[in-house]
Amino acid sequence: MNTTEDQVELDSAVYKTLLESTRAIPWKIDWASTRFAYIGPQIEGLLGWSQDSWATVQDWAERIHPDDRDRVVQFCIAQSQAGVDHEADYRALTCEGDYVWIRDVVHVVRKDDGTVDALVGFMFDISERKRAEEQLLKLQRELTELSFRDGLTGVANRRRLDAFLDAEWTTACRERKPLSLVLADIDCFKEYNDCYGHLAGDACLKRVAGLMDATAVRGRGLLGRFGGEEFLLVLPDTDAAAARERAERCLARLAEARIPHERSSAGAVLTVSLGVATLVPEPGDDLVAFLEAVDRCLYQAKADGRNRVVALEDASASHA
Ligand code: GH3
Ligand code: MG
Ligand code: MG
Repeated sequence: MNTTEDQVELDSAVYKTLLESTRAIPWKIDWASTRFAYIGPQIEGLLGWSQDSWATVQDWAERIHPDDRDRVVQFCIAQSQAGVDHEADYRALTCEGDYVWIRDVVHVVRKDDGTVDALVGFMFDISERKRAEEQLLKLQRELTELSFRDGLTGVANRRRLDAFLDAEWTTACRERKPLSLVLADIDCFKEYNDCYGHLAGDACLKRVAGLMDATAVRGRGLLGRFGGEEFLLVLPDTDAAAARERAERCLARLAEARIPHERSSAGAVLTVSLGVATLVPEPGDDLVAFLEAVDRCLYQAKADGRNRVVALEDASASHA
């Protein structure tokens, strides 16, 4: 006990006990032979593979999820060769065939001449953290999705609609392709609310949005709530004839739905008026002017008696 050797022996026994009683799993790999010189017995508790089954780097690589393996092995080899401490997250295979997320933190031990002697490290079980991260990502995706939807009708909200319209306007300008807009406004909706109540009005808005979405949206098109009881359909790469046809189809489907509206001045059932405008935007054209053009068409449809489509085949002429 008094000699230095005794002290060293005592120290290493203490260190071993300490290392083997942590939750992190210590290990050492001899660089020249690429064999495990040591791995903590805790590995068996975590992955089920016995301590002796970790003989070579190959055993380690084979127990990495195939989707993580190449990335992790290549990264760790490159860092080790360069003599750089590093860490890697990956899924490790358990003896039962499941996977556990592990963070391996690696320290490169060098000889006096600077060459790599061994790698030592700790494996940490980070599955809890990964689960929390994945949950957070999922919630973030859901939140992003929700932030682009109109809360009542479920179609795109104004923010999404504006972003989409901006992007499609740019694309149409670049590709010299027609862009069409269909603006729909429910007829006499104030009277609908007055007659059937606001909640029935809400249900009606949902129904009209769903019906238009199913009827008129194809391919890259997008329907969104433009405001109150107005919906805007953005139809990229759609010419005037196709756009008018979509609008007419909405009118027809809504007529078939026969949603009662006894106080409408436009008919016995709920109807909409639709403005349609088409443009192959040229440099210098203005998106706001295009929106104003479709709004004027809608206004005209209202003025002409509602429950109809008014279309402007070439919106460039309207703001020349
Ligand atoms: P027009 O045929 O000229 O379009 O007449 P209108 O009554 O439809 O138009 P107006 O602009 O006078 O009224 C729109 C109504 O839409 C008034 C408003 O209370 C109602 N509205 C807007 N948003 C909602 C909503 O989210 N829910 C309900 N229930 N009603 C809404
Ligand atoms: Mg309106
Ligand atoms: Mg209206």
